[in-house]
Amino acid sequence: MKNEVKAREFNILVVEDDEGTFKAIKDGLINPEYKLHRVTTGQEAINLAKEGYFVAIIAEIQIGDMNGIELVRRLKKIDQRINIIALTTYTFVNLAVDAMKEGVYAYLMKPMNTEELNLVLRRAIENTFLLIQAGQRKYYQDIATMDGLTGVYNHRHFHEMLDWHISHLNRSPQAFSMFIIDIDDFKKYNDTKGHVEGDKILHNFAQLLVSSTRDIDMVFRYGGEEFAIILSQTDQWGAQKVAERLLTIVRSRMPVTMSMGLASFPMNAQIKSDLVMRADKALYRAKATGKNRLCTYDDKVDQ
Ligand code: C2E
Ligand code: C2E
Ligand code: MG
Repeated sequence: MKNEVKAREFNILVVEDDEGTFKAIKDGLINPEYKLHRVTTGQEAINLAKEGYFVAIIAEIQIGDMNGIELVRRLKKIDQRINIIALTTYTFVNLAVDAMKEGVYAYLMKPMNTEELNLVLRRAIENTFLLIQAGQRKYYQDIATMDGLTGVYNHRHFHEMLDWHISHLNRSPQAFSMFIIDIDDFKKYNDTKGHVEGDKILHNFAQLLVSSTRDIDMVFRYGGEEFAIILSQTDQWGAQKVAERLLTIVRSRMPVTMSMGLASFPMNAQIKSDLVMRADKALYRAKATGKNRLCTYDDKVDQ
């Protein structure tokens, strides 16, 4: 079988009702990878922009059926990232300036200078790609650190942040604390109310933790119904105050209760694995002694 490599194609939407101008654009563009899609009305442009994917749009600002500014506004609404080049004449340059205010990338004056057309179009396409890449970077960063269901950070990011805290604070010792939290009898709740309700609880519970703590405190989904919180610059005493408040809030606002284990750096442990293990042991004791409470790691009872 023959492998055919398809040449790259850059789809460009041209909104132009004037035959002569469209021909000038078509003949003027030097890059064979450019594929022009021509429409002659604003409505057609919007329909095509909604379904097709374009790396740039060249749009006549004096189009018959629609105010050029309105067209730009609507195209930008469909996809903020696509760069639009407005075409205008000397007489209507003020319209082009208004279009720039609506987010148009550049304008070209008719009759067009071919060299300028090619240069501006290439820049507009590059700009579109930059915007798309920036969006993707953020997307991949988010899916790498966030938990989709609850909207809080995930388990992997928890370990990254613990590493970060410990390596920084080993140089300039300062306390921080962590909770491991488990929703009490969540499986029972899930079985009686169903998974949809269960998922809702996980989401609301996580968001309640976020809104009831400081912005610098970080909330993580640690496992199924387990969560963790890292409290920056907070010693054991401060963390116990936070726990009291959180327990009260959860009791009054959620149909479930929670158990919490607390361990603080550097008081209870100086390396990550010990800190996590000790918070876990404290949580285990909170469960074993009746749930719906906080236990703080204590090396006399939690060995
Ligand atoms: P934030 O830092 O994100 O805190 C969010 C919420 O967590 C607070 O909402 C409060 O309900 C709770 N919280 C945080 N720290 C404490 C605390 O030390 N004690 C108690 N009892 N609750 C705490 P709140 O009180 O409505 O505050 C909203 C925002 O206003 C806070 O967001 C913070 O940015 C600011 N803020 C309020 N009071 C203070 C303060 O005394 N010092 C500072 N630096 N900021 C404050
Ligand atoms: P407090 O509410 O009795 O909290 C005492 C200490 O517990 C705080 O001392 C802090 O070390 C710790 N703490 C309490 N809540 C939080 C929290 O959500 N996150 C973290 N990381 N630590 C927490 P701090 O910072 O010196 O604050 C002293 C007092 O100032 C607090 O006493 C509270 O009365 C007030 N305060 C500070 N920030 C806020 C706030 O955002 N909202 C409200 N309502 N009060 C605040
Ligand atoms: Mg907040």
